[in-house]
Amino acid sequence: MPPKVKKSKETPATSSAASASSDALNPKTTTYEFGGPLGALGMVAVLPLLVLFFSVCCDPTGYPSRYLFMGYQHYFERLLSAEYLKSLYDPVAIFAYFGFVLLQAFFYFVLPGDTVPGTVMRDGNRLKYKINGFTALHSTFFLALYFLKNTGLEPLTFVYDHWIGLTVASILFSYMISIYVYMASFEPGKLLATGGNTGNAIYDFMIGRELNPRIGEFDIKFFTELRPGLIGWLVINTCFAAKQYLDLGRITNTMLLVQFFEAWYVIDALWNEECVLTTMDITTDGFGFMLAFGLYTWVPMTYTLQARYLLDFPRDISWVEFGLIFGLNLLGYYIFRGANSQKNEFRANPEGPNVKHLKYINTKKGTKLLTSGWWGMSRHINYLGDWLMALSWCLPCGFGSIIPYFYPIYFGFLLLHRERRDDHKCREKYGADWDKYCSIVKYRIIPGIY
Ligand code: NDP
Repeated sequence: MPPKVKKSKETPATSSAASASSDALNPKTTTYEFGGPLGALGMVAVLPLLVLFFSVCCDPTGYPSRYLFMGYQHYFERLLSAEYLKSLYDPVAIFAYFGFVLLQAFFYFVLPGDTVPGTVMRDGNRLKYKINGFTALHSTFFLALYFLKNTGLEPLTFVYDHWIGLTVASILFSYMISIYVYMASFEPGKLLATGGNTGNAIYDFMIGRELNPRIGEFDIKFFTELRPGLIGWLVINTCFAAKQYLDLGRITNTMLLVQFFEAWYVIDALWNEECVLTTMDITTDGFGFMLAFGLYTWVPMTYTLQARYLLDFPRDISWVEFGLIFGLNLLGYYIFRGANSQKNEFRANPEGPNVKHLKYINTKKGTKLLTSGWWGMSRHINYLGDWLMALSWCLPCGFGSIIPYFYPIYFGFLLLHRERRDDHKCREKYGADWDKYCSIVKYRIIPGIY
């Protein structure tokens, strides 16, 4: 049952007029994605269990993980053991996780940053966003260094020792924030996501009902997008590297690679934080369980699997392998950053020096679609670059287990699905112009292949 809508003191006439204009602005969503309400229920119930499953997969007792698909009953036995069940309740981990998120929120408010406008929304408004994610990232690390200067690296083993408790804390936080934003979305005057207003509570809760939930000026979705998840990912990776150093007295070259690649990805995302304002997450999707869980739990707890695996199964590789994997990452980054920056630059100023030579088509909506450069090769060449990078993060782990490869496997499906979603959105938005664009740029993701 949906939560009660706040009662207003308006007269029946004004309240029905307000409701009519709200209905026009927030039309009912008539199509489902992700398998509809059943799929949504599955995601809300099963994804947290999957993350808990991963929390026992790379432990040092995990000898079966040396085999690709075998030995998984070992993990299920561990999941049901009294020791594991006891470790689920860890108040210190809850305190640490919630404290970390609050610290990031504090940084969002107090650290300086430019205020920039987002894209024009369908109600004609443009929200303003404070860009200080990169400052928040290095402030987090400076603060940590300040605290660690007298203690050495020992406190960093906390993350490894309290991993299960931290995972539970992140899941708890994801549920709490999703429930809050869902309830708040019923307050009058809210702009809802066009895909999140079906009236089915579980589906809307999962997909995200309100487009831009805010507490005052604090934009919950924008804050969540790059800070707790991405900065958390880097903090966790650093803790794993520190533990390897304490355990082995050195850091393996595979751990170095994974640390460098993933740190680069996070630093790059935060350095270019403004780019997030034109992505689907911000412009189109509502903020619900999917984004909340994705960014408060999924990113920090599963994107760190490679570093965690290498901590429990340390290995070195030859310098030739090192070079090849490094090259693959560079190629991925070149495509990913080149494509994303080209679109952003073009959208900000089509006459800019780096983009004015590019071909494009004008649309009836008033926006221009690039048909040459990166965006002339395929309609989502940026996804290809992103996926190549994802693959390069796992190769240092070798082929002893499929667990570290979970990320590119899942991410491959996510990108295939995301491309279809974006295609659907653009076809609805641009109509015949989109068909024209697709007839010029024929491939979806991989030029010449797909
Ligand atoms: P994109 O950056 O791919 O942007 C898609 C939008 O760009 C379209 O909806 C359309 O918006 C506009 N557009 C499409 N074609 C053109 C064109 N030819 N010229 C100009 N504009 C065009 O969106 P995403 O949010 O999907 O991806 C952003 C990045 O985030 C990607 O690199 C992706 O790999 C990455 N990502 C990473 C994830 C992770 O977990 N690591 C998860 C999801 C994404 P408009 O309506 O404005 O025209």
